[in-house]
Amino acid sequence: MQTQTKIWLSSPHMGGKEQTYVNEAFQTNWVAPLGPNVDKFEEAIQSYLNNNVHVAALSTGTSAIHLALELLGVGKDDEVICQSFTFSASANPIMYLGATPIFVDSERDTWNIAPELVEKAITDKIAQGKKPKAIVAVHLYGMPYKINELAQISMKYDIPIVEDSAEAFGSTYHGINCGSFGDFGILSFNGNKIITTSGGGALVCHSIELKHKAVHLATQAREDAPHYQHSMVGYNYRMSNVLAGIGRGQMEVLDDRVGARRSNFEFYYKKLNHLMDIEFLQEPDGFFSNRWLTCILTSSFELREKIRKALLLDDVETRPLWKPMHMQPVFEKYPNYTDGTSEDLFDRGLCLPSGSNLSIDDLERITTLILKEITK
Ligand SMILES: *Cc1c(COP(=O)(O)O)cnc(C)c1O
Repeated sequence: MQTQTKIWLSSPHMGGKEQTYVNEAFQTNWVAPLGPNVDKFEEAIQSYLNNNVHVAALSTGTSAIHLALELLGVGKDDEVICQSFTFSASANPIMYLGATPIFVDSERDTWNIAPELVEKAITDKIAQGKKPKAIVAVHLYGMPYKINELAQISMKYDIPIVEDSAEAFGSTYHGINCGSFGDFGILSFNGNKIITTSGGGALVCHSIELKHKAVHLATQAREDAPHYQHSMVGYNYRMSNVLAGIGRGQMEVLDDRVGARRSNFEFYYKKLNHLMDIEFLQEPDGFFSNRWLTCILTSSFELREKIRKALLLDDVETRPLWKPMHMQPVFEKYPNYTDGTSEDLFDRGLCLPSGSNLSIDDLERITTLILKEITK
């Protein structure tokens, strides 16, 4: 068995043109956190999102969330509602700004932030005399959150949304691209995401002025003067022109990557969905997931662990679903509005290998192992 190659959860998958654009950066000596590749990469994202947006390419998705919250005026002692069932990067920037996260549980249809619990958190906080400053909502594993319901709450209480689309580039909601819905959208190009620049991110803005403000903050808030002049504290968050070259190449294959990841899902679904012990997350009407990671929900924690360990022994990498933020030692002392949904998902769920470069043989190997564990 050990002669077989390791299967990764989600590994980078180059398209072919990346090296050409990286070479351009070297040939023109634009080896800096600005340059033609950055401009072209931003343009490519803007035309893909196709919703009158202005995109700033940044060093990470986390930095994009940080800038979004800062541009929304989040500061010390503010409260920010955040989806609990997510990766810690959704919540960490709330802490960078000295604000307090309020964690809200997920609902069953999308595994994302539950609109009723968001509203409950807001009305409670308003009754206590303090309106939350922003809502961080996440399209987890590529599945859009309930965009309409969230937008209505956002409007009703006048609280802006940071749309964490790090896992959902290429997903759509009623035909409109994820990343373009929130007051700010954020994308990630980390090595495990649907497309990658090895590390990188982007902030999606709805006006050119906001993009300029974001880029200003991302370049040490350096002002236009012959000397170095600063009136505010900035960050060094801009994307490198070398890495943006990778991004340009990746944009040319984004739709292929979405297709390949959705095919992985279809494969697993056909092979495993008939089993009583395994469930898949379905797309509600109008929801289109890039299926960044295919996740299964098993009938028990014990079965989940049995499958995970059997796959590990055969050198197949899987991962339990995200451990909710309200259960994390670093965040457990903060307020939360939870009903057990994400705890249950964390208990029974498993992310299966989902790279766009998996072969049919890989998928066969994985499903055969799972079937063996379930039927034995
Ligand atoms: C990956 C990810 C991020 C952060 O992106 P980085 O580019 O790694 O900083 C944020 N939110 C979610 C949900 C993610 O999966």
